[in-house]
Order: sequence, then structure tokens, then C-alpha cells
Amino acid sequence: MLLNSTRSPGRGLLTAAMAVLLGSCATPGIPSYDLVITGGEAINGDGKPLGPVDIAVRNGQIVAIAPNLATTGRASRVIDAQGQLVAPGFIDPHTHADGEVFSEDAQQRANLAYAFQGVTTVVVGSDGQGIRDFPTRAAPAGTNYAVLAGFGGIRRDVLGDADRSPSPQELEQMRQAVRKDMCAGALGLSAGLYYVPQSFAQTDEVVMLAGEAAGLGGYYDTHMRDEGDFGAGVLAALEEALDIGRRANIPVHISHIKALGPAVWGQSKAMIAKVEAARATGQRVTADQYPWRASGTRISSALVPRWALDGGMEALRNRLGDPAMEARIAEGIAANITRRGGAESLLVTGEISSQDGIAGLTLAEIAGQWETRPEQAAIKILQRGDARLASFNMEPADIANFAVQEWVMTGSDGSSGHPRKFATYPKAWQDLVGGGLMDRGRFIRRSSGQVADTIGLQDRGYLAVGFAADIVIFDPAVFVPVANYTRPEDLARGVSTLLVNGQVVIEEGRYTGILPGKLLKRQPPAGQCGAGE
Ligand SMILES: [Zn+2]
Repeated sequence: MLLNSTRSPGRGLLTAAMAVLLGSCATPGIPSYDLVITGGEAINGDGKPLGPVDIAVRNGQIVAIAPNLATTGRASRVIDAQGQLVAPGFIDPHTHADGEVFSEDAQQRANLAYAFQGVTTVVVGSDGQGIRDFPTRAAPAGTNYAVLAGFGGIRRDVLGDADRSPSPQELEQMRQAVRKDMCAGALGLSAGLYYVPQSFAQTDEVVMLAGEAAGLGGYYDTHMRDEGDFGAGVLAALEEALDIGRRANIPVHISHIKALGPAVWGQSKAMIAKVEAARATGQRVTADQYPWRASGTRISSALVPRWALDGGMEALRNRLGDPAMEARIAEGIAANITRRGGAESLLVTGEISSQDGIAGLTLAEIAGQWETRPEQAAIKILQRGDARLASFNMEPADIANFAVQEWVMTGSDGSSGHPRKFATYPKAWQDLVGGGLMDRGRFIRRSSGQVADTIGLQDRGYLAVGFAADIVIFDPAVFVPVANYTRPEDLARGVSTLLVNGQVVIEEGRYTGILPGKLLKRQPPAGQCGAGE
């Protein structure tokens, strides 16, 4: 594995002569390749065009980049990319594709939602979820995948869903769990301080655990405690994230940056100013963003006041059985519906459990059908299960403000019931490049090389000799999102060829049925992890 926490110098291309020399010689003097891409317009992971070059691949790696390789070498296979863009495969720093890449089912593991967007690596374990014992469960997939240790999973293992601080022994237990995951190859520590039980943690607790990840070369990936005005407010939550980064001496990566809800619309400017000020002091702060006005969540996470979730969903349902408690919870839910822009802006996209026929309706419409108030409709749903929501809560101006920052990258936050899982990359291309907010090079950079640099993938994200051959070829004219809020699971169009570790996963726009993707591990700094870890 060419992954570790220190950057290798010089990602520049070799000269044509040197590159050809690197080709092995089945016939003396004539290099042979598994595959050569010819004729496309290549843009590198730094956003710069490579000029009229061919790209040669052997044994999963890029072995030469120079003009005319298809004619001067012996290639088992030539892919003609005439009229198309050739770029490093996209790297998605924030997904929920855990269910796919760790599935027992090979078809699930193909991870086609991402492959068809041009994504060759997904990061999983986001929002503090983490993945238990991930190295032993790693199986081949359609894309590569990398794992974050998860504060939420670790806290739940030690403290359950309790609203309290850990004892010193419990804190030490959590620290050891972070260490175990980091030593097993996790990229960093993810947290979702908005979610129960992570929301019950004080900042000091997170600093302690982030510090452990920092010592092992990782970064801190955070779904912030508040993205709107639910508690401390988005600006205070951002300040907390920056504070954790400073005190733990760890790079901070803000997940799906946004200003959620009418009360904080327009605060993108103040948020950007805070990040810029931190970066000006040398602090490492970055973010990712998906190009949709709606976030994707559940009724329980989006609307229920946190105190009512102390002890988890079962405890919530017990509280709903007490009329006085139920009235307080209803009041809290009503306030959260307002914070998100009203019941008309909450679209149920999927049911969890046995609700019938509410998918495709807004909470306002469901309340109308059931002849009750929206907060009561939400409670009725929660008494039996839960529901997935597309919550339309972002302003286009804020989305655009964040999108053009040099420290903001593409990331899907893909989850079931929201089109961002199937269409973030083509939609971002359409909105950002088509919309004139940035050029092609900037889009490619924020979707490949910049992400690799940020999350610590040493041999990915660039078209360079010695790098893994993760490559996307797409026709920009037809690279379009197909999924939408009512059909969130339609595959994207426009990617004609996708190479993962040098193997062809998509050919002429069709899945080839192979699983060349693997678990990418970060190598901890030398001597940091003893034997047995
Ligand atoms: Zn999140």
C-alpha cells in the first residue's frame, strides 16, 4: 500500500522518454501494456490539462503518460476516448455506502450508484458511524473504499445512548477503540455531534479522542453539532469544530457544509470568514458539499428534541406513552419543523417499518390526509417506526457561496431515499461547470486530487506514473443526473468507461460485472502501532 500520512514529493509527470523506458519489454524495445487510453482530453487531479497524451496501464498502475503510446507500444487493449474527458476517478470523502461495500451480496458490493457517477473510491463510516472490525470484513467491491473510525459507534459501545459524560475509565476505553481502528488502517476519526448519542458528548471528550487519531496521522471529519439554529447555532458549532482541530492538533474536515434552515440563511458568509481566518493562521480546515437544496435525514433525527432521545428510540416511544411528555415532545417537534422551513418542505422519501403509502408526500400532506397537525403526524409515524425525509432547507445563494471556496470539495453524503447518492457528481458538474461557477479543471481537482491530498490517499487522485489506475472517461455533454427526489435511485448517465485499479468496471456505459475495488488503508506512522494491533 502506498498510503501513509506523509506526502511524497513531486507528483509531476515523467517525460515521454522516461515513461516509455518504464514500460516492460515483452519484445525488446517495445513496451507492452494491459491497456492504453488514447484520444481523450486528459485533465489531471490538480485541475491542469495534460495535453495530447495517451495513458498506459499495466498491473493496475499507470505506467506511462506520453503521446502515441497506443501506436509505439504493444497494448492488449486500446480505449478510444475521442471527444471525451479523461480524469482521475472521483473520490467521495463522505458517503454512507457502508451497506454496499461491506455487503455479503456481490451485486450490492458493485456499488453502482457511485461507479456510474465516475467515483472510484468512497469513504465510509461517516458521521461518527464507523465500521466495527472492518479489516476482517473487507471483500472486493466495484469501487475502492476507505474507512473512518466512528466516534458514535465507539461511544455507543461504551456508554450506550445515555446522556452523560464518560468516567475516566470509559474515556480510556473509547481512546483504545479509536486507536484500534486507526492502527487497522482507518483514515481518521469521524463524528456526528448532531446525532444521539454523540450529541451528549462535551467538547473535551471529542478533543481527547481526536487527539488519539491525530497521533496516528488521521484527520477529524465532522458533521457539526448544529448546522442551523437547533441548539448552539451553526456558527458556534463551527467554532467548536475549529477548536477541536486546534486543541487536538488535527486537520478538520467539515462534512456537507451548509446553512440549514431559514433562521441561518445568509450565514454562509460568516461561516466562510471563520474558516478563512482559521486557515490564515495555518490551521488545516477543509469541507465537502453536495449540490442539493434538500438534506436527507429521518424524522427521528430531524425533528425530535435531543432530550427525548436519551436512551434511544425505545425510550422515546415510552415517553410518547405519557401524555405530559408527549405534549412536550410535540412542542419540540413543531419548533423543529419551523426551523426546517415548515411541514411543506419535508418530503417523505421512504418508510422505515410499516407505514403505508406516505412516501412521496410532504409532512403537510400527510397531516392533511390524517386530519391532524404535522407534529402529531410525525409522532404517529415515530410510534410505529420512522421515515426518511428530504428536508428542503438550503438557500441557493449559500450553496453557491460554499461551492466556490478553494477548500470545498465534492462529496455526496449519499444515503437511501435521496438522489445525492446516485447523482451528486453529474449534478455538481451541471450546476457548477454548466452554471459558470467554475471551469472543468477546478471541478476535476475538487473531485479527485484535492480529496486524495485531504484524506491521505498517497497513490490516488492523479493521473501520474506509479499511481493506481483509477480513471474515469466521460462525455461532458451527456454527463447528467438522472435520479431525482421522486426517483432517487436511477443510475447517472455519461460515464462511458471507469477503471478501478486498472480494470474496466464500466465499458461503453455498462457495468462489466467485476469487483476490482479494495479496502484502502492508511498506514500509521512507523512505530506507533505495536504487534497485534
Ligand atoms: Zn452527516
